[in-house]
Amino acid sequence: MNYDVILIRYGELALKGRNRDLFEETLARNVKNVLRSFYKVKVRRNYGRMYVELHGEDAYEVMERLKRVFGIASFSPTIQVDPDIETIKEKALSLIQQMNPQPRTFRVETRRADKRYPIPSMEVNRMVGTHILRALPQIKVDVHQPEAVVNLEIRTEGTYVSCETIPGPGGLPVGVSGKVQLLLSGGIDSPVAGWMMMKRGVTLEAIHFHSYPFTSERSLQKVRDLAQKLAMWGGTINLHVVPFTEIQTAIRENCPEDYLITIMRRFMMRISERIAEQTKAKALATGESLGQVASQTLESMDTINKVISIPLLRPLVALDKTEITEISRKIDTYELSILPYEDCCTIFTPKNPVTRPKPYVAERFEQSLDVDGLVERAVQGTVIEEITTKRREEATDLF
Ligand code: ATP
Ligand code: MG
Repeated sequence: MNYDVILIRYGELALKGRNRDLFEETLARNVKNVLRSFYKVKVRRNYGRMYVELHGEDAYEVMERLKRVFGIASFSPTIQVDPDIETIKEKALSLIQQMNPQPRTFRVETRRADKRYPIPSMEVNRMVGTHILRALPQIKVDVHQPEAVVNLEIRTEGTYVSCETIPGPGGLPVGVSGKVQLLLSGGIDSPVAGWMMMKRGVTLEAIHFHSYPFTSERSLQKVRDLAQKLAMWGGTINLHVVPFTEIQTAIRENCPEDYLITIMRRFMMRISERIAEQTKAKALATGESLGQVASQTLESMDTINKVISIPLLRPLVALDKTEITEISRKIDTYELSILPYEDCCTIFTPKNPVTRPKPYVAERFEQSLDVDGLVERAVQGTVIEEITTKRREEATDLF
């Protein structure tokens, strides 16, 4: 079927006034951005709907991109038809006939936004329904739970027919909620945390702590690849690569083993807060989940939080590992995350980390370190890389 238009519906109906304008403008910008390599498409907005006019571009490729645009509740591949009832009947029938598998039940739903149209909606439903029933003897009408809904929209600017509704990712358009600085490791959790924040409309910047030569170039490349997977959901991501070797060496030489992780995390927080000041991010985010490992107890979170005043978000805090893994498979980061390259934390993992660290104990151990100097040098040595989405030919399909 040659579709003409993809009709986009968006949710978050509670949005009002200025918020709603910001939502719609940002969504339109993001839709245009993911479709920028489809030169012929045009994106239009009209009364709470968005239309992607295809002008010959491939509907399925376009829809594959729309599945990654947060803020979209659902979309439908649509054909534009002449508004006379005979044409509408024929086109609706041919759309149903091309569905695979063939639906056993259907319903017609007409929205007559153009009130000058001479036939009332109920009557259009009945006429189109009857036409389909006559042509397809095996199909039945089911108004409650049909397998197919024939959607007719009669508007002043055109008449649209569709019979497939594909769910979008929901959430809010990336960009409406400000910026968050994600601590991105090579593990399973932090990419999922970043994705969840993006889903709520956040623009991400990522920070990675790299301990070359204890950790290899390969492990850094893995983080770039993960950042790129995230970028597919919201455009470019700046990745701040922080040199962490000097700090880890200093901690290991001067602090007791059971506090290594706690103190290391406190350094990560201090540096991330400094970087957030530069990027104007309003919060930090990590992939921590309560109780998952020794350094993720409430006491530990408290001891780590104590060194910063910027809010620290933990979107995974109440999720199980299986739930997190499920999301990571869905967003296609799982296979990358399980690649066995060393991480700065795996290299320094002590046998018995403290599970209930105390802020004052951590502070006492840190007195033997030049905290300010170490933080300053790490911030100064940070390199920013711009991670962009793959080009159209390289992009793989999701779901
Ligand atoms: P992940 O699967 O995200 O690595 P994890 O379960 O391995 O998480 P930890 O190693 O305790 O947990 O790390 C907790 C959080 O600290 C991570 O989710 C991440 O946000 C951050 N973090 C850990 N190591 C790094 C790193 N090298 N660079 C940036 N952030 C990191
Ligand atoms: Mg980890």
